[in-house]
Amino acid sequence: MHFGSLVAALASCLDARSRGGEWLLRIDDLDRDREVAGARDAILHDLEALGFEWDGPIYSQHERGARYRQAVDELLAAGKAFPCACSRRELNEQSEAGDTGAICPGTCREGLPAGREARSIRLRVPGDVVRFTDEWVGPIEQYMAREIGDFVLWRVEDIASYHLATVLDDADAGITRVVRGADLLDSTPRQILLQRLLGLHTPDYAHFPLVRTADGRKLGKQTHAPRIDTSRPGRTLLAALDCLHQSAPPELALATVEEVWTWALSHWRPATVNAGT
Ligand SMILES: [Zn+2]
Repeated sequence: MHFGSLVAALASCLDARSRGGEWLLRIDDLDRDREVAGARDAILHDLEALGFEWDGPIYSQHERGARYRQAVDELLAAGKAFPCACSRRELNEQSEAGDTGAICPGTCREGLPAGREARSIRLRVPGDVVRFTDEWVGPIEQYMAREIGDFVLWRVEDIASYHLATVLDDADAGITRVVRGADLLDSTPRQILLQRLLGLHTPDYAHFPLVRTADGRKLGKQTHAPRIDTSRPGRTLLAALDCLHQSAPPELALATVEEVWTWALSHWRPATVNAGT
């Protein structure tokens, strides 16, 4: 587990526990081809070494393909989704770049061009604006058609897109609150739109500031973030609390995992999470 994931785990766990809620663990393993052998065990090991306890079974995405496909078929039958033949390269050449990649110009909206086969299935994104209030960030709005365009629900690799899988997983597990990093803030309107079209409940959302590398990039797999150090768990947890602006006393670095958790739970202040951002 890298440090960005640790901060996400800590923020969401403290949020859930401070409300008397359950904290569920889901491994986002949609893309099995890209999965590193042993990654799942390593994540579970690191969470346990740092004193995390989750409720219920560990949820996994790779067994849920049939459920995801059923939702796509429902949207297709209702005319809310359409097969698309465009490759990523064609889209990059034909269309303007939105914040989240090339905006689909809708070439296949009214049917596949002659002689072309479907590569993916896209949502027929309505012209509406999606608005919601993030508990820690404030009001957010996104003009879906202009800023995002018809986005992919089913990928060329014959697997569900991240957004579709996430929305169905959240709904089926009865998730009421989603706490995660601000890198996913601009994904949230897409997920809310999908919830509305599929008749699913929209959870409350709270996004914490991005954990960045020293040169300002997002800390994650793409920036080769190192695995966290669990040999000194107090120090590692304290660094994560610092990222969430929790003003933990420095002497906690030498405390046991139990002592750090006791402090963190009794001093959790969500109002300061986004301080200074
Ligand atoms: Zn297309």
